[in-house]
Amino acid sequence: MAPTSQPASTAVPGVKKHDVSLYQFFAPGGVLSRTHPAYEFRRGQLQMAQSVEQALEEKRHLIVEAGTGTGKTLAYLVPVIRSGKRVIISTGTKNLQEQLFHKDIPFLEQALFPDGEGRLNVCYMKGRNNYLCRKKLYDLTGQPVLSGLEEIEHYRAIAAWEKMTQTGDRAELAELPEASALWHKIDARSDACLGQKCSSWDKCFITEMHRRAMESDIIIVNHHLFFADLSIKQQAEYAPDAGILPEVGAVIFDEAHELEDVAGSYFGVSVSNGRVEELCRDVEASLQRNHLLSVSMSGALKSLRERSMFFFALLPQGEGRFSFENRRDFLEENGDEFMAVQQSLARLRSELENLQSKPEEVFNFARRAQELQVQFGFLMESEDPNTVFWIERRRSGRDKFNVYLQATPIDVAPILKTCLFDKLECAVLTSATLAVGGGFEYMRRRLGLEHTQESVLPSHFDYENQALFYVPPDLPDPRTPQFAAKAADRIRRLLEITRGRAFVLFTSYAQMNDVYQRLLGELDFPMLLQGDAPKSALLEEFRLTPNAVLFATSSFWQGVDVQGEQLSCVIIDRLPFAVPSDPVVAARVKSIDAEGGNAFFQYQVPAAVITLKQGFGRLIRSLHDRGLLALLDNRILKKAYGRVFVESLPNYRKTTEIKVVEEFFGVV
Ligand code: SF4
Repeated sequence: MAPTSQPASTAVPGVKKHDVSLYQFFAPGGVLSRTHPAYEFRRGQLQMAQSVEQALEEKRHLIVEAGTGTGKTLAYLVPVIRSGKRVIISTGTKNLQEQLFHKDIPFLEQALFPDGEGRLNVCYMKGRNNYLCRKKLYDLTGQPVLSGLEEIEHYRAIAAWEKMTQTGDRAELAELPEASALWHKIDARSDACLGQKCSSWDKCFITEMHRRAMESDIIIVNHHLFFADLSIKQQAEYAPDAGILPEVGAVIFDEAHELEDVAGSYFGVSVSNGRVEELCRDVEASLQRNHLLSVSMSGALKSLRERSMFFFALLPQGEGRFSFENRRDFLEENGDEFMAVQQSLARLRSELENLQSKPEEVFNFARRAQELQVQFGFLMESEDPNTVFWIERRRSGRDKFNVYLQATPIDVAPILKTCLFDKLECAVLTSATLAVGGGFEYMRRRLGLEHTQESVLPSHFDYENQALFYVPPDLPDPRTPQFAAKAADRIRRLLEITRGRAFVLFTSYAQMNDVYQRLLGELDFPMLLQGDAPKSALLEEFRLTPNAVLFATSSFWQGVDVQGEQLSCVIIDRLPFAVPSDPVVAARVKSIDAEGGNAFFQYQVPAAVITLKQGFGRLIRSLHDRGLLALLDNRILKKAYGRVFVESLPNYRKTTEIKVVEEFFGVV
């Protein structure tokens, strides 16, 4: 991305601190009480706002756990507005981005600036693949590369929309299906972007988004966009034109419990057979269009395709994610095939560079070929001790696979410390689930945070009366084969008491399917199963179907909000320890143990605590919610580490007796 003419600044000219103090805003009788229809005084909200304001003023980092019901978005937005600083707010989910942009900020503008004076400039940015690349669309015009009637129809709809849209955001095109293959060919991903040299640069939607961000007081992004941008800046050694996010005075990370995973994926390296094919396809289409596809260029493309196919087929077999520890042995045996791919990439690059009077995009293809060469080299030959190398194989058709060679940092803490926290004046990390055993040592260590202010806010909910936490002491260990049958029986009994209205959440698909099959036809309530429909459709059906029971896995453990009686019970099958054979988890465990630490207590237990808190957090979403939380894994009672889980959960009323559950629901 090119520099804009506006100098980078972390303060937004024209925005003044608002006269209303935090107390005058949040306290009873204050601005919020007069403007918000559902106002309640929340001590934790005021406390959080004061901590955020202090962190912004003192230019320090802050980590704050604010449970559901605190009203944390207003608690950081008000001090952000008062600070007059340009601030990025990065969230984990699209729902929260939309809530901030469409609900919370307009509400605050109305409350703080009723006469319109001092209104905020706010910009909502999504990942680049949500926006149309005008150049790609124009290049497609008149080309015979559209496949099938559906693509032609989509093309027509997009071409008509492109003439009217101000943003280029595909969300405006409701009729375009999520999985449109055409969109993937014409979105504005950075891979194929020509930046300032593009003929459509002036009217490019990404240029426009960048310009809007430079003029904004508040920029709303998600963690993926934030870390993608940060890693581009880091690779470009912070050149002023790198990335699309401007310099800011602070970053607020909401849903911050997801930071380690997202950061890990963007500071890693990934090369796939699909990526090589995409490069070949783009080169071919462009050269055909420009009448530059010579015999030798076709030969170079053919050779790269063949060699890449051969090389990826040779990689160790297996589906899903698995470690690639024996890279050396693999290279001993298959070094020639690896070199052949590298040579084909080098040949393509040199063919591209030697083209006479070439269009601008050809330079970009040469850069992509070189990048692939460098990354292949790193993935196969690097001995970096802080990186885990692994393979992911995903089915993409009947006999087709996408194969990814991956490298992920084992510990992102040193990277985040140098690239992010040491460079930022103020970072605020918040979520309903950050603390373990009442403290932040785990998060600080995993994320490389030092010298932070910390705060765990009191809950706004009366958990002791609103939620009953039940653990059956008599069920077998969930790792034994007897568990599924006994667990299914107990789930049936619990659902009879709660009359359905439940999420039954599992730590694996296999366990979910097993228990679902055992209960099929046995329950008097409608049963919904993850995978039978898209997530949003399933949730909608759950909300609309009286007494429904939803069986689901990890994707429903967070970011799902069902208020009211319709969700009166959350059952979790077992303590959610990350799969120990997962290559990234295994490497982290090994590394902590090798340094003399205790990976189980320093990494696996705290990570599972955070996940369990997220899962149970689905139940109580408002002051009026009430219900049952059941954990069918009694290791929480029997093992020494169980205490850490119990001490980290809110103070639910606890029981091991089914009779108490019956009483709680008034069943005699
Ligand atoms: S600048 Fe990049 S994203 Fe924008 S139209 Fe050109 S190629 Fe597409």
